[in-house]
Amino acid sequence: MLYSIVGNRVYGREAESLHDIWNPWHGCKKCSEGCQHCYMYYLDSLRGKDGGEIYRTKAGFRYPLAKDRDGRYKVQSGEMLRVCMTSDFFLEEADPWRGEAWEIMRQRPDVKFFLLTKRPQRVAQQLPPGWGEGWENVMLNVTCENQRRADERIPLLLSLPFKHKGIMCAPYIGPVSIRAYLPSGQIEQVLCDGENYDGARPCHYEWVKALRDECAAYNVTFVFCGTGRRFVKDGKLYRIESQHLQSEQAFKSGLSSAGKPMRFDLRDPWGDPIPEERLYRPYFGERCQSCGMRISCNGCSRCGKCENTDKG
Ligand code: SF4
Repeated sequence: MLYSIVGNRVYGREAESLHDIWNPWHGCKKCSEGCQHCYMYYLDSLRGKDGGEIYRTKAGFRYPLAKDRDGRYKVQSGEMLRVCMTSDFFLEEADPWRGEAWEIMRQRPDVKFFLLTKRPQRVAQQLPPGWGEGWENVMLNVTCENQRRADERIPLLLSLPFKHKGIMCAPYIGPVSIRAYLPSGQIEQVLCDGENYDGARPCHYEWVKALRDECAAYNVTFVFCGTGRRFVKDGKLYRIESQHLQSEQAFKSGLSSAGKPMRFDLRDPWGDPIPEERLYRPYFGERCQSCGMRISCNGCSRCGKCENTDKG
């Protein structure tokens, strides 16, 4: 489950072909309040498809290993790939395919993989052989759309053997406090985003600020990605239809704050550290300067789908 970069915003069909998204399978089963207006179901319905139909993708399955005509990987060393943005990596129906997906991640120790799930209770039984205390290039995030799901999923997250952990409050449909979990020192990043598409529920400025303040107290990076379509501030409801405007308003709120940087110990296939100068450097165009997601974004891939590219 995720998002043209982060949060739950997806730009139409492009989401399936965005450079920094890897969807080894597609489709999902709704499992909590945050799924009620799932964007994947919504976008599938626009194409006359049922988001409940789960299938393994063809060309996309091996994307992290895809190479260009010169034999170079399309995904560069140091890039972050968000995994299963139109499904859930730990979905039961994907059990037969997960082993191969883990193997692909093992073959790219030079790439960061961002896993996001609403099913942390399934993770421990689904880890690959040789996982040990976790692979340096894999980050696990759980969705906390409200306090109930936060209290259900974060303790499981903290109990799991992963080197990098984070939280995604998106769609942010109820106030969430994570004060009880921050002292663990395991949470490296918190992302927050309002809801989009039909039936979008309001996100409140006060909730976002309270969460940010908790993160700032523990020097944890907090990213306010977007307001969502319905945003409440000082008791007033704002209707913000454009996703670009939503992320711009989030940026202008000044609520995002960079905390202790995450350090991924990325290696080449022979296990040697990769020199900094050989690691991918994200490009941010003019449009990115006022985008709420910038702190945690993999950068603009200059896909040419907005005016960002021609100013590069
Ligand atoms: S887990 Fe994510 S992809 Fe699956 S139904 Fe819920 S919101 Fe949609």
